[in-house]
Amino acid sequence: MDFEISEKMTTILDMVGQFMDTEVIPLEGELLHGDQATLDQMVRHAQDKVRQMELWAPNHPVDFGGLGLSMLEHGLVSEALGRSPLGHIVFGVQAPDAGNIEILHAHATDDQRERFLRPLVAGEIRSCFSMTEPEMPGSNPTMMATTAVKDGDDYVINGQKWFTSSADGAAFAIVMAVTNPDAPPHQRASMILVPTDTPGFNLVRNVSMMGHPGSGHASHAEVIYQGCRVPQANLLGTEGAGFAMAQERLGPGRIHHCMRWLGIASRSFDLMCARANYRVINENGETLADQQAIQHWVAELDAEIRGARLQTLHAAWMIDRYGAKAARDEISAIKFSVANTMLKAVDTAIQVHGALGVTDDTILSYWYRHERAARIYDGADEVHKTSLGRRILRRYASQAV
Ligand SMILES: Cc1cc2nc3c(=O)[nH]c(=O)nc-3n(C[C@H](O)[C@H](O)[C@H](O)COP(=O)(O)OP(=O)(O)OC[C@H]3O[C@@H](n4cnc5c(N)ncnc54)[C@H](O)[C@@H]3O)c2cc1C
Repeated sequence: MDFEISEKMTTILDMVGQFMDTEVIPLEGELLHGDQATLDQMVRHAQDKVRQMELWAPNHPVDFGGLGLSMLEHGLVSEALGRSPLGHIVFGVQAPDAGNIEILHAHATDDQRERFLRPLVAGEIRSCFSMTEPEMPGSNPTMMATTAVKDGDDYVINGQKWFTSSADGAAFAIVMAVTNPDAPPHQRASMILVPTDTPGFNLVRNVSMMGHPGSGHASHAEVIYQGCRVPQANLLGTEGAGFAMAQERLGPGRIHHCMRWLGIASRSFDLMCARANYRVINENGETLADQQAIQHWVAELDAEIRGARLQTLHAAWMIDRYGAKAARDEISAIKFSVANTMLKAVDTAIQVHGALGVTDDTILSYWYRHERAARIYDGADEVHKTSLGRRILRRYASQAV
């Protein structure tokens, strides 16, 4: 195992880190207190600078305008970008587009590549992924009510989805729908590309989450597909392969989240330590940093974040070397453990900031609201623990005494 990085990567990481500090983190004021239209304009301006620096879309394929970084290399970049909620969008690697790009790159036809993939990697359009349904358990997506029925040369899609993240303003959705209802459960659904201006694609609302409905990229839509007709040529991959492709998408997607969460954890940690050293708490001039309780929090978190980081880099290294399937255990383990470490870092940093921690004067409360969901999406903690635990125990089956 070797996490050593090349000189080129060291340069890239230095450039990304500096750009985050000087150009991205300063935009957070607009995110917390300004309006979306002004923020969008500022983000576009920052994106142009990233393109000029030739750092756009670090992990996307070179032939589509990205930098083609490996999973491990992208992990390090993504950690730096995760230090601000705006980092990934400024560099063109935000969810859900990043996962959609991977799946399109693997399965799109030439025509689909030109129509959907190329403008997506270039950042000219955005996309969304429409799988979860309000009336069905998202943790078991074989239970899906949305259907896509063939009619002439078309599919006609009917169903209700929610938490279709970033549908607001997206140019197209990758929709999971049942195409083969009589097939075995894991072969019933397919992925279909649906331009959002197709009649019958109805964005009902941005679902209000933790007090905010959000908008644009930072939103989670309820979408009703009603007689939504698209050509059969919009099928992505093969019919009935939807679940297999979703798993393929989710493996790297999960590690992308973990990498981003490492950035959140490290920035929260930095804010916490800076505050602990700054805050004088008695007339002898002692600060919070002089208190043993705080010192223990700092030491424990430092150890946890280091562990989370090494686990994530190891999973990335496994994916680079052996593929996402071989790294299943590593990915399941980091999905729940890094999510919890990140949430603990945010929560502890808020505690150290006292009342200031729950205001919107720092980025911490934004993360507290938005990142609680980390333990739910892309497989809830319990689901990953069950499947990892089951796989581990199976390996011991022959040793039962
Ligand atoms: C912020 C956010 C963004 C999202 N973005 C998208 C998106 O872009 N596209 C999309 O299609 N979906 C998206 N989702 C949906 C997400 O994938 C689902 O919420 C997730 O799969 C869980 O499904 P559910 O909400 O239906 O919960 P359920 O399946 O109803 O589960 C509820 C809870 O029950 C427990 N549980 C479930 N199964 C088991 C089990 N087998 N054993 C023990 N406990 C269990 C877990 O604690 C779980 O949290 C998003 C969700 C959130 C919160």
